[in-house]
This record gives sequence, structure tokens and C-alpha cells, in this order.
Amino acid sequence: MDSHRIALGGPMILGGIQLDVDMHFVGHSDADVLLHAITDAILSAAGLPDIGQLFPNTSAENCGRDSADMLAIGMAAVREGGWSIVNLDCVVQLEHPKLSPHKDQMKKRIAEILQIEPDQISIKGKTGEGVGEIGRGELGEATCVVLLLGTRN
Ligand SMILES: [Zn+2]
Repeated sequence: MDSHRIALGGPMILGGIQLDVDMHFVGHSDADVLLHAITDAILSAAGLPDIGQLFPNTSAENCGRDSADMLAIGMAAVREGGWSIVNLDCVVQLEHPKLSPHKDQMKKRIAEILQIEPDQISIKGKTGEGVGEIGRGELGEATCVVLLLGTRN
């Protein structure tokens, strides 16, 4: 899982695409909360160091970094370790904007980065029902569960 604060001023980078809205996620990299959750899920399932260890937020080269780049590097390490992705199940908790009009484009982009098919990826959007940090539009969260298949034997 991953979370980032939301601040005024667009665009928002989410799921590897740019959303034309007047808010953005705050972070050291481009703060793509969904790609970060996916990167950590695949690294963790393959028993590799987490995203914070691979791409420290204290390092200048990771400042404003494209999260697609980090996900591609993470996937290469997973593949190197002898694993392939069966499927990804993702939930994004965000009050605004609605995810549904953008889901297909996100799946296509994530599939491209991971070199898998879009139908291996599921993305669900949920709101905070107006309650808490998510409901007030102050925070966005993403959770990802991945199934890996060992290809070593
Ligand atoms: Zn993050």
C-alpha cells in the first residue's frame, strides 16, 4: 500500500497517466500512489528490498522521478529473480476525481510498463464517503495485491 497527501494545482499523475484536474499528489518523486503500491507489491512478493530501499527519498536522483521508471526497474528485478506476474488487484481510495473514466487507460499504461496484458490488471476506485482524510480530499491511498508465478523450475 501507499499513500500521498493531496495539494492544489494540477496535473495529477496516477496509474502512469496524467489527469487534467486542479490537484496533485505531494511527494519526492512524481508521487504516483498507484504505481508505488504496485512496485512495492511485486518487490515484496518476490522477496526483494522495498521501494524505499531501492529508491531512497533522500537521494537527489529520485527527486521528481517518473514512477513508471521505478516500476520498470522493479519489474526487471522481479523477472531476474525468476518470477512472472499472474495478476494484479488494485484499489485506489480517492475522493476526487472519479477513477472510472480513466481505468482503461491506466491499465493499458501499467501493462505496457510491466510487459503484461491489460486483462491481468484490475483497478477499483473507492471514495472515503466524505469522512476522514480521504473523504476530505486530503489524502489518496492505493493498495495492490499481486500473484507471482515462479518460473525457475
Ligand atoms: Zn509513494
